[in-house]
Amino acid sequence: MSQVVYITLEEPIPNRIDGIPKTQSDWIHPNLIESVDPVKGRQLRASEHIPKGTCVLIDHPYAIIPVVDDPATNDDLICSNSACNRRSLSQSGRLSCSNSCIADVSWCSSTCRDADKARHDFECTWLKRYADPIRKKWGEYDFGMLWVIVRLLASRQTKPRPQNENVLPTSQPLKHGWAGIESLCGSVDTWPHEQVRSWTTLVKKYLQNGPVLPHGLSADQVLHLICQEEANSFGLYPRETGIYPPPQPLVGRGEQFAAAVYPTAAMANHSCVPNMTHKPDEDGRMIFTASRDILPGQECCISYFDLTKHTDLTSRREHLRKSFKFTCQCDRCVSEEPAEETNDWTPMPMMDI
Ligand SMILES: [Zn+2]
Ligand SMILES: [Zn+2]
Ligand SMILES: [Zn+2]
Repeated sequence: MSQVVYITLEEPIPNRIDGIPKTQSDWIHPNLIESVDPVKGRQLRASEHIPKGTCVLIDHPYAIIPVVDDPATNDDLICSNSACNRRSLSQSGRLSCSNSCIADVSWCSSTCRDADKARHDFECTWLKRYADPIRKKWGEYDFGMLWVIVRLLASRQTKPRPQNENVLPTSQPLKHGWAGIESLCGSVDTWPHEQVRSWTTLVKKYLQNGPVLPHGLSADQVLHLICQEEANSFGLYPRETGIYPPPQPLVGRGEQFAAAVYPTAAMANHSCVPNMTHKPDEDGRMIFTASRDILPGQECCISYFDLTKHTDLTSRREHLRKSFKFTCQCDRCVSEEPAEETNDWTPMPMMDI
């Protein structure tokens, strides 16, 4: 991967989230609601005015994995403790698994390692047995996908259900935790047969319920989880995604360092002229911020890709078709459409955001 120079463009996130304590696990702005569009399905919408610059969502990942080249020597790993997720663990300062499963697993302190014991115990044997063979035979992408699934299952097995899941305002019917994961869009019917066949093979070979992975789900349930994960996972990048118009000179969002599944953030649809930016904070939480004044009734969208890339209509639509399996019909795309362009879009967003 190419070398990226990181520069700081803005204040650290905690300074921008007025009145929301850092310990707050999840938060949604009271004016951000879930609604259902007859064509696009589930979406986020403003019930009342949301001023520019407002933090509208803080969502903790239900599962997160590091995505780095050469993890043994890479200083960009995240802490494996899902309550921490601290980034940029130096080689000298991090702790590895005592069972030597894989170099991608590390903790920033013994406190984090101890706190993460039950969750990591769930994945450790699986990682030790299958990580290398999967990487060699299927490649890094499929390994990452399977590891996210294992971490989803690990969280499901080990995360205590919060006594009060309703840190969100009571008027919000948004589901959280495993219930939120179960409600994500995506099923075998939304993916090409060949893709589903390949995932079925992977489930059979590597994700069956058993002593190595005691999750108690059927193969079909795990396959369904893959279909959901692939339609809803986020890539994590050091800088904001979705600044529009893009800053000049063009500065991209940087190199991906993690992938994660967020139960609430996953509901946001795409626009090439989004009214929210998104960026992970230093704890791996996904933060949505209003990048414009959002009027009552307007849909709240993010950009699924780096807007400093794929700038013209053809390139944007091609990228979205290839990576997310839909033809974008956002205001910007429609306004730039030549008269003869046909509208054959499907509403299903897919793959890493
Ligand atoms: Zn930590
Ligand atoms: Zn381990
Ligand atoms: Zn568009």
